[in-house]
Amino acid sequence: MTVHSDTLSLIGNTPLVRLAGPSKASGAEIYGKCEFMNPGASVKDRAALYIVEDAEEKGQLQPGGTIVEGTAGNTGIGLALVGNAKGYKTIIVMPETQSREKMDTLRALGAELVLVPAAPFSNPGHFVHTSRRIAEETPNAIWANQFDNTANRKAHILGTSEEIWAQMEGRVDGFTCAAGTGGTIAGVGLGLKQKDERVTIALTDPHGAALYNYYAHGELKAEGSSVAEGIGQGRITANLDGAPIDTQYRISDQEGMVWVEKLMGEGLCVGLSTGINIAGAVALGKQLGPGSRIVTILCDTGLRYLSTLYNREWLVSKGLTPFPWLSN
Ligand code: PMP
Repeated sequence: MTVHSDTLSLIGNTPLVRLAGPSKASGAEIYGKCEFMNPGASVKDRAALYIVEDAEEKGQLQPGGTIVEGTAGNTGIGLALVGNAKGYKTIIVMPETQSREKMDTLRALGAELVLVPAAPFSNPGHFVHTSRRIAEETPNAIWANQFDNTANRKAHILGTSEEIWAQMEGRVDGFTCAAGTGGTIAGVGLGLKQKDERVTIALTDPHGAALYNYYAHGELKAEGSSVAEGIGQGRITANLDGAPIDTQYRISDQEGMVWVEKLMGEGLCVGLSTGINIAGAVALGKQLGPGSRIVTILCDTGLRYLSTLYNREWLVSKGLTPFPWLSN
């Protein structure tokens, strides 16, 4: 048992766990990287720390400065924690469609929260553009810019992929996850390919995102929709640029929920992007064959979605079949 000498070093070095249900269903060995065990309970703590430390090293972030970001919520939570630990203020811009729990968490952490209506990226009121403007107008502030700041994927090249390689003792056949910024898929993909170029990197795309068609047919085209928070991208962000994607799957919310339910039966409470990742990992396991060793990301805690994914009325209102145990 190690003792950490400072709180920020609690970010990363997450456990990897073999998942019985997904392994059985695919005939492969499926492992989940427990990113919900980061201090901010999501995969985005890693990117938040690297983005802030990169800005400090470049002299862009001065003592007492402000970090501004547009986020589905998890990056904001990571930035607020890192900001608190280092003495920076955080201003977080979020679409108002995201879960109540993420908003309440950001307020609890002391971040200034700016809610904007959900809008397409081409709209100047989109949360990303709004956050850039606020950063420009705020003295002594940086714009974290997680989508196009490649310090994000560097966190996964230097951190997540190295950890996966060590934990798997150098035997990884495939890796898959969904993309929000693309930092995780691109960073882990690039890192694992550096170790062994035979590792298959698969993108698992939710409905409503454009990346499946881009990697399959060379065309950014979205079909359908998804209520999964934090994933689903319509463009090639700087973080996605050059991502070594070998194959791709499209997964519906209902398919993702099947795996959220099965993980609940294994004692894990996760968010929907994790369920979608597991569905992708099962598909990749079937593609690579029996006994293949597949890794995916358990992105965040389900406790962040008590009012949505784990709420019967909300699920019904979105046309999704509630989990059988939800009775409210
Ligand atoms: N799942 C959740 C719940 C997230 O918040 C995010 C971050 N947007 C992701 C998955 C995807 O991570 P990335 O931004 O690295 O693509």
